[in-house]
Amino acid sequence: MPTESDTGYDPSLGRKFIFVTGGVMSGLGKGITAASTGRLLANAGFDVTAVKIDPYLNVDAGTMNPFQHGEVYVLKDGGEVDLDLGNYERFLDIDMTFDHNVTTGKVYEHVINKERAGDYLGKTVQIIPHITDDIKRRIREAAEGSDVCIIEVGGTVGDIEGMPFLEALRQFAHEEDEEDILFTHVTLVPYSKNGEQKTKPTQHSVKELRSIGLQPDILVGRSPNPLDAETREKIALFCDVPVDAVFSNPDVEDIYHVPLALEEEGLDQYVLDHFELTESAATAEAYDTTWRETVTRETDDEVSVALVGKYGLEDAYISIHEALKHAGLQRKTAVDSHWIHSEELADGHDGRLDDVDGIVVPGGFGARGTEGKIEAIRYAREHDVPFLGLCLGFQMAVVEYARNVLGLPGAHSAELDSETPHPVIDLLPEQKDLDDMGGTMRLGTHITEIKEGTLAHELYDGTTCEERHRHRYEVNPAYIEDLEEAGLVFSGTSGRRMEILELPEHPYFFGTQFHPEFRSRPTRASPPFVGFLDGIHATRGDN
Ligand code: GLN
Repeated sequence: MPTESDTGYDPSLGRKFIFVTGGVMSGLGKGITAASTGRLLANAGFDVTAVKIDPYLNVDAGTMNPFQHGEVYVLKDGGEVDLDLGNYERFLDIDMTFDHNVTTGKVYEHVINKERAGDYLGKTVQIIPHITDDIKRRIREAAEGSDVCIIEVGGTVGDIEGMPFLEALRQFAHEEDEEDILFTHVTLVPYSKNGEQKTKPTQHSVKELRSIGLQPDILVGRSPNPLDAETREKIALFCDVPVDAVFSNPDVEDIYHVPLALEEEGLDQYVLDHFELTESAATAEAYDTTWRETVTRETDDEVSVALVGKYGLEDAYISIHEALKHAGLQRKTAVDSHWIHSEELADGHDGRLDDVDGIVVPGGFGARGTEGKIEAIRYAREHDVPFLGLCLGFQMAVVEYARNVLGLPGAHSAELDSETPHPVIDLLPEQKDLDDMGGTMRLGTHITEIKEGTLAHELYDGTTCEERHRHRYEVNPAYIEDLEEAGLVFSGTSGRRMEILELPEHPYFFGTQFHPEFRSRPTRASPPFVGFLDGIHATRGDN
């Protein structure tokens, strides 16, 4: 059972649930709206958590292609989930678990397994009640221990796949006290050719919602500009909500400013009033303003960072972009990170890397574009350009060193060239007999032991670090001694596994087998990223 939180809120009054649905079209920023609402409640002192519902049939996001879906986010328990969970972790500054991502695949797999086990005692197993019961159970379990749980339903109202979830929410609302439930619907408010804000798409989408028995309490209109008074009134009238329950969520220069914009709109106050939590909320003076102070910090300079990868979709590297931003907030530096297609660098960089202050080579799978990544790493190493290699980027740094310093022609990762004479990166032994691809990598948090006196030691300010992993390959133990003799330093290890590499003579050449980007937060930047910016500043002579 939850304990009393900092606000003195008595959980026996009932845990609060905020359901967030979306209308008109996907990609509206529904997740950011939901996470921002959570941030505001956390500022007021409540323990907030979130559940992301993904109505697709995949059990998890682990097998999904970043070209289509963006990054696969990794949780501490190894859950491979939708990138929205990354936003929740960053906005709420919490660590979530795999149970916080509910997919159709997970729910059906569980119910069908129970049916096969005979647990339904001969009954006909149906979407209502068996699937909907399982959805409700999952939401309640994930909410355990928090004051407020935000449940975001992926996709758009009206999608066939989302129906069982919306039905489960309808039932859920009936089972809880009215003042413990709040439905927020986020829609697009487009402009007509003559510059008028149009409410019809919102009206239609709310009509759709009401036809399945859900009445929104709050409407959030996404639009480039704030909603006009007239637009708000119209939405209120047609969608049957009070006019002060219609909120604007206009475009802002940075996603971390969305909570500030919603706060100015009074969304948090409205939610607290609805939940009858105003009395429990911290007094105005006690409101935590750390978020506001952090994200509005002035910057002193700007650096340009090249992200050399093969996935063209911005979302494919979202956690890395955010981690660079967090390091920038900490160092008062604006980071302009731009993507360079690794395939285009394969035959040399043609000056494309000349003007960048630092190079990041991110994680990835498959051979495409790897020669370009290796070229970029070589350039960084030879020209003293600060370099950060993450997972595959770490592995490619080992390959580059083996080829160009150790002198092993054709050295490669066995993943990318099965015929290589020097597989300096090889399959993890426990991966050898695996057939299934889903959820079978080395995943989640593992402890890395850090060697004293190294850069890693300085950055992490200690002899261990706990970071998240997602890989099948590792540095081949047969080559470690030779690589180290040639000057490469493995400053972090986990048993026989190499976790961190660095080059002492270089301004900043740092690679990690793990993904430090997943633990980076706006108010707690990740050490390798901060070190990277420090390396850039040192190289430019700023410090
Ligand atoms: N493909 C590499 C491996 O499986 C790297 C994975 C990654 O970058 N996440 O080990």
